Amino acid sequence: MCRQLSRSIVAFMAAAFVAGGAIGTTKSPSTSVAPTEVVPKGRLPRNVVPTLAAVSLRIDPAQARFMGAVRLDVKVARPTRTIWLHGRELNVTRATITPKGGPPQRLQVTSADVSGVLRLRADKPIGVGHARIELTYDAPFGQLQGAYRVKAAGENYVLTQMEAQGARNTFPGFDEPGFKQPWNISLTIPDGSQGVANTRLLKTLPAQVGWKTLVFATTEPLPSYLIAFAVGPWDIVDATPLAANAVRSRPLPLRGIAPRGQGARMRYMLERTGETLAAEEAYFGIAYPYDKLDLLAAPDFGPGAMENAGLIVYRDQLMYADEKSPVKLRRTAHGTHAHELSHQWFGDLVTMPWWDDLWLNEAFASWMAVKIVDELQHGRHGDRYLLESSLRAMGQDSLASTRRIREPITVSTDIASAFDGITYDKGGAVLAMFEHYIGADRFREGIRSYLRRHAKGNATSADLVAALATASESPAAVREAFASFLDQPGVPMLQVAVDCSGVAPTLKLEQQRFTPVGSSVSTAGEWQIPLCVRWGEERGDRSQCTLVSGRSATVPLKAASCPSWVMPSAGGYGYYRFALAPADAARLEENFERLDEREQRVYADSVSSAFSAGQLDVQAYLRAAAKLARAPARETATALVDQLEWMLLHLPLTAAQQQALRDMVRQSYGPRLSALATQSQPGETDDDRLMRSELLEVMAYVGRDPELRASLAAKGRRMLGLQMADETTPGDGKLHLDAVEPDQLGLTLRVAMEDGDARVFDALLAHVTASQDGTLRTQLLRAVAGAHQPELQERSRRLLLGPDAVRINEIALVLGERRGRGTELAEDPVVRQAARDWIDTHFEALAARITPYGGRLAKIYANGLCRTADADALQTRFAERLRQLDGGPRTLAQAVEGVRLCAALQARHQGSSWQLP
Ligand SMILES: [Zn+2]
Repeated sequence: MCRQLSRSIVAFMAAAFVAGGAIGTTKSPSTSVAPTEVVPKGRLPRNVVPTLAAVSLRIDPAQARFMGAVRLDVKVARPTRTIWLHGRELNVTRATITPKGGPPQRLQVTSADVSGVLRLRADKPIGVGHARIELTYDAPFGQLQGAYRVKAAGENYVLTQMEAQGARNTFPGFDEPGFKQPWNISLTIPDGSQGVANTRLLKTLPAQVGWKTLVFATTEPLPSYLIAFAVGPWDIVDATPLAANAVRSRPLPLRGIAPRGQGARMRYMLERTGETLAAEEAYFGIAYPYDKLDLLAAPDFGPGAMENAGLIVYRDQLMYADEKSPVKLRRTAHGTHAHELSHQWFGDLVTMPWWDDLWLNEAFASWMAVKIVDELQHGRHGDRYLLESSLRAMGQDSLASTRRIREPITVSTDIASAFDGITYDKGGAVLAMFEHYIGADRFREGIRSYLRRHAKGNATSADLVAALATASESPAAVREAFASFLDQPGVPMLQVAVDCSGVAPTLKLEQQRFTPVGSSVSTAGEWQIPLCVRWGEERGDRSQCTLVSGRSATVPLKAASCPSWVMPSAGGYGYYRFALAPADAARLEENFERLDEREQRVYADSVSSAFSAGQLDVQAYLRAAAKLARAPARETATALVDQLEWMLLHLPLTAAQQQALRDMVRQSYGPRLSALATQSQPGETDDDRLMRSELLEVMAYVGRDPELRASLAAKGRRMLGLQMADETTPGDGKLHLDAVEPDQLGLTLRVAMEDGDARVFDALLAHVTASQDGTLRTQLLRAVAGAHQPELQERSRRLLLGPDAVRINEIALVLGERRGRGTELAEDPVVRQAARDWIDTHFEALAARITPYGGRLAKIYANGLCRTADADALQTRFAERLRQLDGGPRTLAQAVEGVRLCAALQARHQGSSWQLP
């Protein structure tokens, strides 16, 4: 492989930056495309393929624009005058092509589509063979995508987010995951700045006065979406190199990169990187594939993290997690870290050719992260986390607007839709189901052979499924079964009846697609399901796995006698829902204690899905909720609370009925909360701490326990420096983080604001302004969003636009995006409507600021809506606005459908009579 970056690139770049006179701008679509030419709005044609990309950028974080020079070595398969590339909002000042051994030719560059398709046109045909395309340009920095600027503590930084389509805003090129080639990156930056990129720094060359040029080592073959760099006054922390091990022969350099003054905060995560990476190397049997590992803490970042090869970027709060962090944050940090590291193999070393196979990256990394973190931290219950995400995916997958895991993508606005719960969570759940069915060792063998075979290249779903199927005992059946989950949307619904009338006990099965009440979707659908069941018989519990197919099936049970109960999803690994025949359901309920913790959680899901399907009435639901509240695992104990909260919000209940429901919640969960000490104890498990936080939230919001809320609010005021512990002496105005334990910080602040006044609001804002800490700011701003006084609401929205606005990734928070339970905002129709009106009035400005996440505004707008007329109005109001936004059309479809289904569920259950169990 070519390791030297030739002098000619540096020279070319220097020349490029003095070249003047724009010859073409790519800002707006042009009509100059010949009518016979089809603009490739999805994948590019393969007639011209890159073999090397050299990108030289001149970046000053203090400026609004940057300059670039790009050299693309390509192979031309057929003579052509047109070359298609990607580039968006680039002002191209010069473009040439030089065939090998021939003279250079000027290229005319025009924009052919708003998604960033460039048409390069030569006067004379370009012949078959090798050629070099050279372009110089300048461009504006983006907003959380491409190369973008952020400010931290008054200083400017530049960093990048290329996935999915940010690269085309940063440099012209073949911006498609199917094109993998080595990259030579060099950055010309101000003398006082630091610069990092995917690979090691090779050398620093002097540039013009006050500037220097950093030349980085040639990368392994990479697609454009994995390219990354950063420029600014970063702290660069050299951590201890990661020791060699059984699969990696050399130590690996590891560094932390954070805004000036923040580097030391990465200590904990840097210290724990080695064990995570080593566990992944051991699983894959392949050494970490790149020459160094940098972890960057980004002060404003769209996603949680991004797996750029060799330079992973994280939201700063994840990299600042440590022993003292809230349990949830620390767990998210470990999980995200394991997720991104596993991408270095799954995604970076082996890459999907196109976005329809994104699940290969994301489902795998989601599943793998749980496996690795569980291995390293006993008692974390990662399998519970995976199960929760599987059940959450089933919720989304029940909609008509769901996608297939492997959804065809033909236009670029659909690419963003692929980054959803179906890709990550359903994909992960399906992998877990097949791992359980095939066996963990065989499954790992399949993964290893897939990675070895396609290393440094591209591979599809079919390649992965073939490798896993080959490793299994029944390749043909596994391949077909996999396809039935990848290539069709929806959740299988199994009707299950136990039949002991014959010689041997059997299960009678009927399958169809699960649909919630009011759904427009057909129940047609047939899957080949790895069905694992467990049952009780005289000699103990037994289980078996069978691959079932067809609308109806009969499965003989290898049981010695008629089972006393049957659990249709053994271990809770099935990606399907089930309903038992009434007598069998009653027997399962009686034997609830004999189910393992995952099975109990799946049982709870069968209750809530029956409620949303309209098959279970309010009375039966409340009876089940009261019983499940006593289940040992936190996730099961609180599984039905969300629908109780839904009833409080959306069923037309009398005040007495509301009170009765809240009383029931307090009676169910109060004793469990009392059984835990009020403060976390030394030696207490993380799980107890999470249980305490969860129960406090349920009691404060759904139970509306007045005493609890008063004590939380008092703590919150003390923390904000508004009052002392005696609750009468005024405080010192400073933030007292020690007044409350980290896990309860957010809840305490929210209750203090909801039950408080403008003084609390002012204190929250003052502390937001003073803080650069992402975690703390999130908690403070969530509380700000919960203020229900109209004038305070109005003031909170002033934080969203203008020069002193909050970070871009904090906007949704301030707008009251619903996360978890208990947003007062959603409960007060007047306040909620004012928020909607404001979004409506400021839509354009907001959408421009949060590009490419503008579609989320429709979801936030829809919070709390539950009438068919609202759904129609939502559609009308946002259809045109979201049509061209990345992921916009599907986001709107989901928001509209959510409102319709809410209305249907309300119609099904309103007026039903019930009494507390
Ligand atoms: Zn990922």
